[in-house]
Amino acid sequence: MTEGPRPAPFFIGESPALDFLNSVAMPRSVRYDWLETGPDLLDWLVAAGLASQVELAPFREAAAAAALEQARQEIVAFRERLRPFVAEASGRALGETSHPVIAEINAILGRGARFLQIAPAPAPEPGASAARAFILTDSHPLSAPRDLIVRIAAAAARLIAEADFRYVRNCEGPSCTLYFLDISKNHKRRWCSMEVCGNRAKAAAHRRR
Ligand SMILES: [Zn+2]
Repeated sequence: MTEGPRPAPFFIGESPALDFLNSVAMPRSVRYDWLETGPDLLDWLVAAGLASQVELAPFREAAAAAALEQARQEIVAFRERLRPFVAEASGRALGETSHPVIAEINAILGRGARFLQIAPAPAPEPGASAARAFILTDSHPLSAPRDLIVRIAAAAARLIAEADFRYVRNCEGPSCTLYFLDISKNHKRRWCSMEVCGNRAKAAAHRRR
């Protein structure tokens, strides 16, 4: 059960799909779920960069509360079906798989509307080659709370199609459930964060000496 004031959600996954799994966590032996209520879900989506406040404003109206709660329950159930897939696939090259979550993601993606748009390109990284003025963005419009899961499924689809699963890892903290994509140069990342698990492991090693 959740107790005490809830800390800020974790965005340590380097992937919105992994941070979606991390939206329930036990950072200090207390379990927190950042998707506990409909408004929680909306706040998390904004913090995760998967939706904007403006887009979500209609879903904060009292009239949308029941549909939002239904959407939240569907999203949490999806989260717990995505988790075993990631648990099984992480740490090695992703082979072809007929895991049922793949079909589920495709079914969710198929039900949302979708369009491409031209948008200004973000500023180029220093040293990057020729800057582009525009990029093509792929958007799933949100007309009702039931569309929210489409954004999450799109993030999961990107993870599965684009991430190197050899570097998808569970934090080494003994009771830590957080996942991350290790994008460090030498792929030696071990912890969700130094503050949460890295320092605790160092302190434990120090006590043993
Ligand atoms: Zn950790």
